[in-house]
Amino acid sequence: ADLPTAQITEAKGALNGVSNSESGVLYRQIRQTPLNIVSGRGSYLITDTGLEILDATCGAAVSCLGHNDKRVHEAIQEQLQKVSYCYSVFFTNSAMERLSKFLVDSTGGKMSRAFITASGTEAVEASLKMAVQYFMELPTPQPQRVNFIARKQSYHGNTLGSLSVGHHVGRRALFEKVLAKNVSHVSQCYPYRDMKPDETVECYVGRLAQELEDEFQRLGPDTVCAFVAETMAGATLGCMPPLPGYLKAMKEVCQRHGALLILDEVMSGMGRTGTLHAWEQEDVVPDLQTIAKGLGGGYAPIAGLLINQHVVDTLTKGTGAFAHSLTYQGHPVSCAAAYRVQKIIQEDNLLPNVLEMGAYLSQLLHEKLDDHPHVGDIRGRGLFWAIEFVKDKQTKEPYPPSQGVAWAVHASGLKPEHAISFIPGNGGIDGINGDHVCLAPAYNTTRAE
Ligand code: PLP
Repeated sequence: ADLPTAQITEAKGALNGVSNSESGVLYRQIRQTPLNIVSGRGSYLITDTGLEILDATCGAAVSCLGHNDKRVHEAIQEQLQKVSYCYSVFFTNSAMERLSKFLVDSTGGKMSRAFITASGTEAVEASLKMAVQYFMELPTPQPQRVNFIARKQSYHGNTLGSLSVGHHVGRRALFEKVLAKNVSHVSQCYPYRDMKPDETVECYVGRLAQELEDEFQRLGPDTVCAFVAETMAGATLGCMPPLPGYLKAMKEVCQRHGALLILDEVMSGMGRTGTLHAWEQEDVVPDLQTIAKGLGGGYAPIAGLLINQHVVDTLTKGTGAFAHSLTYQGHPVSCAAAYRVQKIIQEDNLLPNVLEMGAYLSQLLHEKLDDHPHVGDIRGRGLFWAIEFVKDKQTKEPYPPSQGVAWAVHASGLKPEHAISFIPGNGGIDGINGDHVCLAPAYNTTRAE
């Protein structure tokens, strides 16, 4: 269970590559050059040394079609030959129009407009600003609604606004003093650690809803602007699907007090959980919804904010303009790429494959790892799964941060030449402790892969 430091360093090196670079790139790990990817094919990434890596996570749950799909390349080229860029603050463009219509239609009209951004973080920022503007522009404005309630162990992006609603303690630490003070955090839905042995799902969900209600009361119910949550918790907590009735109960609390529900589906949306929108499985419709990774499948940087009709109506009757703009919003090439990715998901009938392969992956993980003394929990939905490591299975004592993942790499004997990518995560328990890895294969992945 315990590893000497040298072995942990070695195991981390196996994750990141070990050479130093003179090239001028500021890598995430500044002292370490990661493996250099020169091409991609299907579920594989290929390095400059010819190593073929099974991209078991689609990068960060992005490359949902796998790599190098010529059909998307053609759509990008076609758009480039028409127009590569126009400023969406002044003009619209056909690619953005077509993608937005697709997105609105994909919700069965439940969301009625799309605001297309370049990254998930930008979509989250846009959602927060739109929520504030909504209350300012109601027929009777509610300018006192300045508080956001989000969840512990959540991740919503890395800019100051999105980091403020997120709650990865490690990522926040350096910036704590400049993060927004009008955000508080309630508990995640995390049955493995927080549901009591004698508690029913209904009681546990009721307890979480009561905690949200109490937070509204503490802040003053009419000061809360929105509750922000990932529909299925991703990066920090590690692939935790909501328990039945959980999101519905949370939305009821918001509705009782007139606050908005923002569902962040940057990671869990656009098919990752088996339905295009993760909320479709929850009997809940958000007021604002963010989407990103599976939208463009990595063929171009793209994300979006989907907006419920009542919010659109309020802004339309108000100033008639969203007080927010971005140079690359509605980028035509990104929109053309994303539209093609979405059509391929339909044409190749990939959502049923997400469910089928997801069930198979789940079965394999449970078969191979359920009894392992250092595997505490296996959880997920669709093609989005996490394995949580524990030092002690009985007490659920975690490894120190990052050591659980390092231990797993060491114990499994993984080296770069074994060539499988996964997302290491920590912070699931309290934003610091709790190591897990996430798996998020492509929607067209096969049993063999
Ligand atoms: N929101 C969620 C739920 C995410 O998982 C992420 C990224 O992992 C983001 C927001 C930020 O998206 P991006 O990295 O595209 O800015």
